[in-house]
Amino acid sequence: MLGFSFLLLLMLWMMQTVFLDDMYKMVRRWETNQAVQLVEENINDADLFDILRDLEESKGISVQLTQDFVEPQDFFSDGREREQPETITQTRVFVLEDGSSISLTFHARISPVDATVSTLQVQLYILTAFLIVIAILMGIIISRRISKPIEQINKSAKVLSRGEYEVRFNGHGFSEIKELSDTLNTAAKELSKVDRLRKELMANVSHDLRTPLALIYSYAEMMHDFPEEISEEQTQVIMEETKRLSGLVNDILDISQLETGNMQLNLSTYDLTESLQNTIDRTGALVHKDGIQIVFQKEEEVYIHADERKITQVFYNLLINAIHYSGKDQVIHVRQKRIGNDIRVEVEDRGEGIAQQDILFIWDRYYKVDKEHKRAATGTGLGLSIVKNVMELHGGSYGVESKKGQGSTFWFQLQIANERPAS
Ligand code: ADP
Repeated sequence: MLGFSFLLLLMLWMMQTVFLDDMYKMVRRWETNQAVQLVEENINDADLFDILRDLEESKGISVQLTQDFVEPQDFFSDGREREQPETITQTRVFVLEDGSSISLTFHARISPVDATVSTLQVQLYILTAFLIVIAILMGIIISRRISKPIEQINKSAKVLSRGEYEVRFNGHGFSEIKELSDTLNTAAKELSKVDRLRKELMANVSHDLRTPLALIYSYAEMMHDFPEEISEEQTQVIMEETKRLSGLVNDILDISQLETGNMQLNLSTYDLTESLQNTIDRTGALVHKDGIQIVFQKEEEVYIHADERKITQVFYNLLINAIHYSGKDQVIHVRQKRIGNDIRVEVEDRGEGIAQQDILFIWDRYYKVDKEHKRAATGTGLGLSIVKNVMELHGGSYGVESKKGQGSTFWFQLQIANERPAS
């Protein structure tokens, strides 16, 4: 700002003091030329004398016939010659209507500029002081409102680029700067979320993958070393662990797709009741041998418009949890209830239930109430998180009512389809 002001002042000083004389003469010369042109245009007009008078009065240019013109001899009373004011003189011959010609001389008076220059100098001193103060003030304001906040944002951005995602951007001053810092805060939050997810994923996945892999390896090694001693129990362990591994891999793929928003819904109108029944039949057959019974209560056959594979997965996750946590009373109740234009599916078990302080967190990724990782009883910790994401994607609702020691009722609710597909 100061540099700009100095440049401006320098130009003003040069123009108004050093070059003032030359510029003034240049302007007077130009004005004389204009006057000559004006007279030429009106040389035969009756109002030529008015024009000449006007030139004299307003522009200080006097016009006289050349042959008549006598250099004014001005003397002091003591006979000394008075100093003549400087003039710009131009003589032109004009042709009149009647063919005769006259020669006119134009005299543009040049007033001395010295007095003007000193006045201008005083003005310029004042202007210089004023401009310097303004420049300093503007510099301070601009630095406070623009440069400082940008500097701070830059510092925070450097911290962010080192991977410290908890850094916060405090933009102030102009609204654009505030907006920029808000955007950067959101970006930092998102980055920290992704980073947390990555760390969680690595921690959980490496733990969950390593244990079954170690088991499979040791059982396979035993079978390799003692082929004659292969037992049903060994093959059973290998099969179960392989199943657990593939379940885990599928869950991880699903959850990462759901969380990054890449999951596409394959919507269709289908018979929900029939789909629930099929899942119950298939799962029931598997757990029947453990004495678990699944009871399905439904009032009617209901169609919904949704992604059948994903809704089946939601239901299956709830059912499997109910089976895992069902405890001694091994009956699981599945209910399909109509609530207005919605259908609600409930899965109830009378098992261990969930403590009040855990209920809010069970929908989070990898949340397990039992931190000790009881492998036989618990799964990946992703099941309910998938339920939550799929229901949110469908615009449905979900929830749980549970009391520690008395069992839990998990539910999800979706809109009933208005039309059934033509069969
Ligand atoms: P997991 O694979 O561990 O079951 P989920 O996301 O499905 O993961 O469930 C998260 C946690 O919620 C479980 O670890 C369990 O503690 C609790 N939970 C889920 N369903 C039930 C249930 N029916 N009864 C009691 N606790 C449950």
